[in-house]
Amino acid sequence: MLRANFNWCLRDRIDGWHQQFICGNYCDLKTEVEITPLTCSLVKGTQLANPWKDGGGKAKKEGEKDKSPKRTAVLMQDANLQELKDARPWYQEIDIGVLQLIPARVNESFNKFFKGAGFPKFKRRHDFKSFSYKPGRIKIKGNKIYLPKIGWMRFYNSRSLTDGFEIKTVTVRQKADGWYVSVRIENKTVPDFPVIPDSEIKTITGCDMGLGKLVYLSDGSAIENPRFATNKKTKRLMKIRQRRVSRKQKGSKNRSKAQLRVSKLHNRIQQRRESYQWDVANRIVKKADAVAVEDLQVKNMMKRCKPVKSETGRFLSNGQSAKRGLNRLIADASWYNLTQKLEYLAAKSGKKLYKVNPKYTSQTCSKCQHIDKNSRQGEKFICTNCGHIDDANLQAARNVKTKAIETYGLNIVKMIKSKKVRRDSSKPVQTTLFDVGMYERSSDNTLPQKACTEHSRSGKRRVGENPEYKQLSLLGYLGRNS
Ligand SMILES: [Zn+2]
Repeated sequence: MLRANFNWCLRDRIDGWHQQFICGNYCDLKTEVEITPLTCSLVKGTQLANPWKDGGGKAKKEGEKDKSPKRTAVLMQDANLQELKDARPWYQEIDIGVLQLIPARVNESFNKFFKGAGFPKFKRRHDFKSFSYKPGRIKIKGNKIYLPKIGWMRFYNSRSLTDGFEIKTVTVRQKADGWYVSVRIENKTVPDFPVIPDSEIKTITGCDMGLGKLVYLSDGSAIENPRFATNKKTKRLMKIRQRRVSRKQKGSKNRSKAQLRVSKLHNRIQQRRESYQWDVANRIVKKADAVAVEDLQVKNMMKRCKPVKSETGRFLSNGQSAKRGLNRLIADASWYNLTQKLEYLAAKSGKKLYKVNPKYTSQTCSKCQHIDKNSRQGEKFICTNCGHIDDANLQAARNVKTKAIETYGLNIVKMIKSKKVRRDSSKPVQTTLFDVGMYERSSDNTLPQKACTEHSRSGKRRVGENPEYKQLSLLGYLGRNS
């Protein structure tokens, strides 16, 4: 029923949109001339029929301002819901708040479209799997949740509600293995995340995202890439399950059962990846005051190869089959999601995330800043100018760090080890063998961590380490067949 309403609202909006073009020269989007305001409004949230609630856009008394301003499409569709309920009595079973959010959802997808996303699509059965309740409609008691018009339901309460938080929007979503409910909670007395000025940043970690290892850090360490979807075991299992689907008769019950098993596997892969990425992001953010990452355009990296044509017009091999494998690896690593998590965690703990232009980060020498394509030989980096030898990926991570410091004008503190001095001699003599200038030179990551703790001990207590934060997300499991 909700899906039918969504599609109706979308169709209504599209018709309203086309109406503007029928007007032709008199009402043109290009000239932005508005001749007949009743049928043509140049507002993007346009609608057929009368956009005024009452008064027809005129003031009731002369000299007074119009009290019923022009309504947008979403408000008009919202007002039409009562008619829908009268015409279709079976819609009484739906909570009014849930129904009201459907025109809002259409409007949101149109807003996204005007900002450059794709045109809103009509929803099919498998695209429409969630609905939301408005704030203040839901009650939670222990492991039971009250959903209006549905009733009290038992659910797996994964995280208990903290005192002082009020329940905001609640979304119920169907996934392959059951129904989930996500509860948004808010406490206005808890302050917002503090914005840290660039001048307060003392230490920074550069990150280079890769495929062999997921993240290479500028302190010389790297974080494994478990390849949740593209490892041998999962690939084999996926192949088997997909083959089972293809061998069942189309439209049969057995086929949908087999399809469900495929979706469950997809679901499990995604959940594993999410949990791993939170862990990785936490580990990276803890290392320093700020994190620098490359501003990657993953969409462009995953583009297909251009077709190659011979003189006779035949298509030649263009390496797309190999590129497809690479694209799958890139999608599996999902760097963008990891960057988003880093940004969130950094803001939460009073730290900062810097994005830098990824150009030349893997071709620049971190010692002499010489840029040469030939310096990189697979995993190795040998500078053609100064002969500096390093691991190509770690070297890229260091470049990301220096680039962030340069572009944002950061004042990074170099930790210098104090020299040990013999007290019994008349002249102070240095006893340590080598000076450790910057703590980042060594490959083990014990030093930067030490530097970090020293810093936080001497400095103020970081605000973000406060375990309370403004908005949390609560996930609950509603059960399989509910
Ligand atoms: Zn060099």
